[in-house]
Amino acid sequence: VTFESLGIIPQICEACVQLNYKRPTQIQREAIPVALQGRDIIGLAQTGSGKTAAFGIPILQALWKDPKPFFALVLAPTRELALQISASIAALGSPIGARVACLVGGMDMMEQAVALARMPHVVVGTPGRVVDHLENTKGFRLGNLRMLVLDEADRLLDLDFGSEIDKVLAASPREGRTTFLFSATMTSKVEKLQRASLRDPVRVEV
Ligand code: AMP
Repeated sequence: VTFESLGIIPQICEACVQLNYKRPTQIQREAIPVALQGRDIIGLAQTGSGKTAAFGIPILQALWKDPKPFFALVLAPTRELALQISASIAALGSPIGARVACLVGGMDMMEQAVALARMPHVVVGTPGRVVDHLENTKGFRLGNLRMLVLDEADRLLDLDFGSEIDKVLAASPREGRTTFLFSATMTSKVEKLQRASLRDPVRVEV
């Protein structure tokens, strides 16, 4: 199995070569074709499985067809994870000119507001800081959001980000939005979030 055979455009396949990704990982082989069809996904996968590219590549490919600001939002439980995801998506998306902004706590709000003013296509962040910007930074809206990722959903909920996630869901469109929820474990809280955020999801598991 190659990246090309999963239906990925040549520009992004070339970015995989640059990153030294030789073959898609199992979660990438299972999730990418489903995601490229526009289906919602519930993914049971651990960090290290290659899940970032499993959701990042379909986001970038959809963005390439319809490049718009604030096209995708990825929520992650920790600053470190959000920074890693943002760096990976920026690297995979550089051949198609994707702009990525990262909104995490403990860093300057103004610098992040400047990054938002550049109208990034993809925003990656921790829930608290993302909601802070939604409430306080003019011009940052989720009204046209097409893709939402809830990464490490079990940890997001353990860290009590439920109300921030609800605010993000309320601010984003339900029609025309594709949602991917990834979690290492399936808890009752994750199932409840799944029901609130996904529509007819395909389950992929590694
Ligand atoms: P993740 O699970 O998304 O945090 O990815 C774990 C690590 O695997 C990261 O360092 C990625 O850059 C790397 N990676 C992701 N996909 C592939 C692939 N298909 N081949 C080789 N390495 C990969």
